[in-house]
Amino acid sequence: MTVLVRPQALESFKPREFQMLIDGRWTNGAEGRIIERKSPAHGTVVSRYQAATKADAEQAIRAARHAFDKGPWPRMKGAERSNILLKAADLIASRAEELAFLDCIESGKPISQARAELAGAVDIWRYAAALGRDLHGESYNTLGEGTLGVVLREAIGVISIITPWNFPFLIVSQKLPFALAAGCTAVVKPSELTSGSTLVLGEILMEAGVPSGVINIVVGTGPDVGAPMTTHPDVDMVSFTGSTTVGKLTMANAAQTLKKVSLELGGKNPQIVFPDANLDEFIDAAVFGAYFNAGECCNAGSRLIVHKSVAQDVVSRIAELSKKVRVGDPLDPKTQVGAIITPEHLAKIDHYVRGAAGDGADIAHGGAPLDLGSGQFMAPTILSKVKSDMAVAREEVFGPVLSVLTFDTIENAIDIANSIDYGLSAGVWSRDMDTCLQVGRGVRAGTVWMNTFMDGASELPFGGYRQSGLGRELGRHAVEDYTETKTLNIHMGPRTAWWMPR
Ligand code: NAD
Repeated sequence: MTVLVRPQALESFKPREFQMLIDGRWTNGAEGRIIERKSPAHGTVVSRYQAATKADAEQAIRAARHAFDKGPWPRMKGAERSNILLKAADLIASRAEELAFLDCIESGKPISQARAELAGAVDIWRYAAALGRDLHGESYNTLGEGTLGVVLREAIGVISIITPWNFPFLIVSQKLPFALAAGCTAVVKPSELTSGSTLVLGEILMEAGVPSGVINIVVGTGPDVGAPMTTHPDVDMVSFTGSTTVGKLTMANAAQTLKKVSLELGGKNPQIVFPDANLDEFIDAAVFGAYFNAGECCNAGSRLIVHKSVAQDVVSRIAELSKKVRVGDPLDPKTQVGAIITPEHLAKIDHYVRGAAGDGADIAHGGAPLDLGSGQFMAPTILSKVKSDMAVAREEVFGPVLSVLTFDTIENAIDIANSIDYGLSAGVWSRDMDTCLQVGRGVRAGTVWMNTFMDGASELPFGGYRQSGLGRELGRHAVEDYTETKTLNIHMGPRTAWWMPR
């Protein structure tokens, strides 16, 4: 059995009411429609947002366009923008508990984890502020007498930022501060399931001194609000994080006006384990990698590829440790696995598990939804004897479900890892660094962890190979992604000859 923590009713809690932010003003949607968000753990309404319409999204885009074309933000000194972003980072830190609470009750993620995400986000805002101050192009004085080449980096313009529900504050923080540091303006659409913390971020940015129109936040569904943000001719770039299906749609929409796109999409990430690995550490990392954020994580280590000589031992040890995982009320600081985002998503996870069992996989632990009196929860689940052609081994389940496959040679392990459409991240476990490096080079993924899993840092680029995305976030080039280069080709002094003979 797993340790269950029944959600306490949110008795004295009053749902928060949110407006949207357009051109520096907090406003209602054109149709006055409200989106209600229920806590996925407690089942009661926790937030009410004003729902934007297509017309609201267009108004937000016009405001961002005007702020970019005529406003002070792109024309400020980098140091001035940087100071405002640093102030924003301080304000985020001072409101971290409020922001973590919102992410926790809207998404169902454990409060301890939401707090850690906020700490990570503050670091990212500070890092972006530092990078923005150092943004520069290059110059060439080696092009011949009388010629100087100057390559400028100019802000690309208006950015549409579209984010998912699984890391609401963290993901907007992987995009917005870098776009702002470059001098861009933005329209942000968080997921309509978890918009609260992004709207509070709007308050913070206004207070920090970001001028009106530079940051606009609209709440609504993908088809109503997200789609116009990907097609509107006044938008220069779309920065999207979400599913591969919607990512492809976003790219196709953006192609109509040839916008730049940055896509952070799904993953089905392998962890490859060799017999010489430190299995004590690995077992812990496997449980963490599979169940962290209830498996609703693009980086989830959801595919275990274990050497067949240790497979049985590994499965029984992971099953044993899974019994100690605490599942339930995300507001309990000791909870490790919170609620599943919606009842429909829980049904999808359950469907994958039943399908795998029907196809011959063994359920070594869990295997079914949990009834905790309110909300929706899934038992941490281990499926062994999974074959690499099963849906559960190839598709993103996005729940606390671990599929265990086996291999016999290193080439076989790499082939299994590379046999699917995704390529976001991977893990390899061995005491032999040569083995780790061979796997590290062989696996087609944007990040490969060696004898660790899911560590991250603002300095390290993150993104996917193949259908896991396009482009990278974080790292020292992250601000440059929101720029264009412009070449100034300069002639100095009189010219002795031009094209036509004199
Ligand atoms: P989703 O693709 O359903 O939605 C993402 C965002 O796109 C939401 O704001 C949604 O409203 C919007 N959207 C939906 N339809 C749209 C349309 N037609 N045009 C424009 N926008 C539209 O994804 P989700 O369910 O919110 O999030 C889960 C997915 O996100 C998973 O696949 C996960 O792997 C992925 N993800 C990837 C990363 C990464 O960094 N690679 C990080 C987190 C999540």
